[in-house]
Amino acid sequence: MSSQTFRKEEIPWEADPYFQQHDGQLALFQPEFMRDADCTKDTPVIHGRPDSPIYGTGKRIRPRVPGRRDSEYMKKILLEELLPLEEYDRVILLISGGKDSIASYYKLLELGVPKQKIEFWHHDIDGGNPTRRMDWRCTSHYIHAFSEAEHIPLRVSWRKNGFFGELYRIGASEPIEWQEPETCEIIQCALSKKYIECQKLKEKSPADIEKQLEQFGYRMKFPMKTGDLSRRWCSAYLKIMVADTVLRNLHNLEQLGKPDGKSGKDIRLLVVSGERRGESAGRSKYNEMEVHRTNAAAKSRRIVHQWRPVIDYSEKDVWEVLKRHKVNPHPCYRAGWNRCSCAMCIFSTPTLFAGIRELYPEDYRMLRQDEKVLGFTLDNDCDLDTFIGNAGSCVYHGDKEAIHSLVTGEFSADSVYVQGEWKYPAGAFHGAEGGPC
Ligand code: SF4
Repeated sequence: MSSQTFRKEEIPWEADPYFQQHDGQLALFQPEFMRDADCTKDTPVIHGRPDSPIYGTGKRIRPRVPGRRDSEYMKKILLEELLPLEEYDRVILLISGGKDSIASYYKLLELGVPKQKIEFWHHDIDGGNPTRRMDWRCTSHYIHAFSEAEHIPLRVSWRKNGFFGELYRIGASEPIEWQEPETCEIIQCALSKKYIECQKLKEKSPADIEKQLEQFGYRMKFPMKTGDLSRRWCSAYLKIMVADTVLRNLHNLEQLGKPDGKSGKDIRLLVVSGERRGESAGRSKYNEMEVHRTNAAAKSRRIVHQWRPVIDYSEKDVWEVLKRHKVNPHPCYRAGWNRCSCAMCIFSTPTLFAGIRELYPEDYRMLRQDEKVLGFTLDNDCDLDTFIGNAGSCVYHGDKEAIHSLVTGEFSADSVYVQGEWKYPAGAFHGAEGGPC
């Protein structure tokens, strides 16, 4: 694998109204939806039935719930309808390995989107950190196996050294990189001025280096458990900014596989993600479709739309899609977790953290050590041991294969689809507590 420096570093994000708008005060917008906490096996399937193909018919999808107009920013990003699906050059599906992103993928297929138009994008939250992990050991293998089984290219991107690199940051943030699906080449975004200055300082190694580095940035605390993404830095720095930066750097179709033989400008991209209203109060107010933050229609003739195709689905609807396509859910669901994404998510409940302590005692011990070193607890109020208290572990031991995957990180291609009867995983229908991301 080779490495090369590429164009733009991320844009200054503190000024981006997206970070205030999507989880802020949204009292004007109250769509109807089923909360995951109220959903059971007996909930009727409403939205999760098979879709009819519309690709190539000129039909435009409109949102079931009209988009928000409660601020100038929301008016600016409002999208009344998508383009006909066949008019997008590429459909980028943000895949976490969780059930909602998988259901979003099958929705695209059922609507008739050809596989050649789809690309999976995954953000690796650990960014190649040599010693520490925040995410499940098997997520990368699970996603690679799924993308191979479905014959969809996978583009993985990350911020170097991931969550723990950012947690212990004194100085500028690490650069963003991605791996090209076909060549496996690692591409690095241009280094920020701050980062270059920090590197120079490190080379000189002055006696007061730490103090000098601090003027370029200082993290040294866990993300805050809040909907405000300027303080919940993990979602902002390790996911949203990573995706945006990579998108801004992929300025021509050549790097997206040149699906129609086109190159250069006039690109139309559809970014698809799996958020659902039923997961949290914040997500309940999301738009189904909007103009994406990286849209640059006038400057670069690049149209980027975002679509959340399963936004109105209940948890039951989502499982129905996985059942129909016989997809084996991520091993964490089968081992008792109600949600996927980061294994040690800051929003994990005491029961989920007790499960982490059981499966990964060393990772848990190091997390406790982080609290001591930083003088800052992961929970807003108390240390992790106190937070867990007497809570029992969420781990379900009836699925040995799933536990094996979680512990070893292995996930074989043979396990992508269920052979025989598809069953709900042990973690299904236990609400959405434990993480919004
Ligand atoms: S899943 Fe949790 S820990 Fe991971 S980025 Fe999202 S909020 Fe942060």
